[in-house]
Amino acid sequence: MNVYDAARMADILAPLGYAAVDGPEAADLIILNTCHIREKAAEKVYSDLGRLQPLKSGARAPLIAVAGCVAQAEGEEVRRRAPYVDMVFGPQTYHRLPEMIAHIARGTGAVLDTEFPAEPKFDYLPKPLPTDIGERAVAAFLTVQEGCDKFCTFCVVPYTRGPEYSRSVAAVEAEARALVEAGAAEITLLGQNVNAYHGAGDGGAAKGLAALIRRLARIAGLARIRYTTSHPRDVDDALIACHADEEKLMPFLHLPVQSGSDRMLAAMNRGHRADDYRRIVDRLRAGRPDLALSSDFIVGFPGESDADFEATLALVRDIGFASAFSFKYSARPGTPAAALEDQVADAVKDERLQRLQALLRVQQDAFNRSLIGQVVPVLFERRGRHDGQIAGRTPYLQALHAHAPENWLGSVRDVRVVAVGPNSLAGAPAAGSDAISSPERIPA
Ligand code: SAH
Ligand code: SF4
Repeated sequence: MNVYDAARMADILAPLGYAAVDGPEAADLIILNTCHIREKAAEKVYSDLGRLQPLKSGARAPLIAVAGCVAQAEGEEVRRRAPYVDMVFGPQTYHRLPEMIAHIARGTGAVLDTEFPAEPKFDYLPKPLPTDIGERAVAAFLTVQEGCDKFCTFCVVPYTRGPEYSRSVAAVEAEARALVEAGAAEITLLGQNVNAYHGAGDGGAAKGLAALIRRLARIAGLARIRYTTSHPRDVDDALIACHADEEKLMPFLHLPVQSGSDRMLAAMNRGHRADDYRRIVDRLRAGRPDLALSSDFIVGFPGESDADFEATLALVRDIGFASAFSFKYSARPGTPAAALEDQVADAVKDERLQRLQALLRVQQDAFNRSLIGQVVPVLFERRGRHDGQIAGRTPYLQALHAHAPENWLGSVRDVRVVAVGPNSLAGAPAAGSDAISSPERIPA
């Protein structure tokens, strides 16, 4: 979502004459768009700021801004630790960037804007320009929902991104059409809880994510739809049906579970048990047998015992993930879990993370290898690292490169997977792949 937000900041700055440059030395304005989800991400902001500080006394003396969730959570504290920062603003106020810059230009002092304005920023952001989008991506992001009302006990998002908000179906569709007209063939719908989406439909009544996907699937030229991040509690029948029969919806789902222990899930306030997750996956796979899954895991949540951790490993074995993200629990200021007494020792967290990641890696390697020899549809997005090579993604979001004609860029083509490397697959054009693969074909 920060990638999306950064692109929208560029859209709003373009009419003021700003354009992207290659590095901070050439910039008049530097915006660090930050993440507060774990301590490591938040602390990185201050080391990056320290590296930028000398530029302030150089010839160009750029404006320096801290945007995003660290700005939202720390507010004044950012300028206390880095007084040379000119602007501090949260994720819901960046549509006010032109006013903030004008304020600085008037010499009236630094800007701090961490409000949650009544007016949603989306109503003020300009329609992205085709030329800008064109340079951005064949596979584009589109925020449809933001914020969260779920208050998992470890998580800062409800405090930094604010309450749940969904854009209207018409607004999402208009932005999707602009992206496709500018060359996007794939759109990933974004939200902190994207399947809690409940945007106003044409008649005013709220529509769910499944209805939104079906509406966007009608856009000619849009080949692929994905969404992230979804919550198990909001996977409804309509969404399961969508996975079963909507060809443009990719058979790959990132569905975070965090833990396989019911005791931990309750302490985290996730609102479901481990078996509920298993049942949801069963139902999704019943409709779409080739559905591949990824997930997020937290190890070392306060009070996590060896048995709780074993329950997480058991769930991983039961489901079988194509990929995953796993983290050591990081106590975040102001969240309920940070105040719990039975925090887990860092060495224990380390050991559990290594064991979990070893298991997940075995599953990921097995999944990747299972594709060797198969023909998969690949959306080619960019030139590869070597001459004559182009690169793109499979339906399962795996990176794939192949020696193939450059005019394949921007289209979905059938490719035979010939090898699996540590970070990507290698492919070769499949027979008949001069034709654009449409509809998407899925390996048997
Ligand atoms: N809304 C999504 C996740 C948003 S945060 C959901 O509910 O699943 C992305 C991921 O960061 C989470 O899934 C979680 O695994 C991880 N995360 C969030 N807070 C964390 C914390 N305090 N410590 C460690 N990992 C955390
Ligand atoms: Fe954070 Fe996701 Fe829980 Fe919301 S649902 S509080 S974003 S982990």
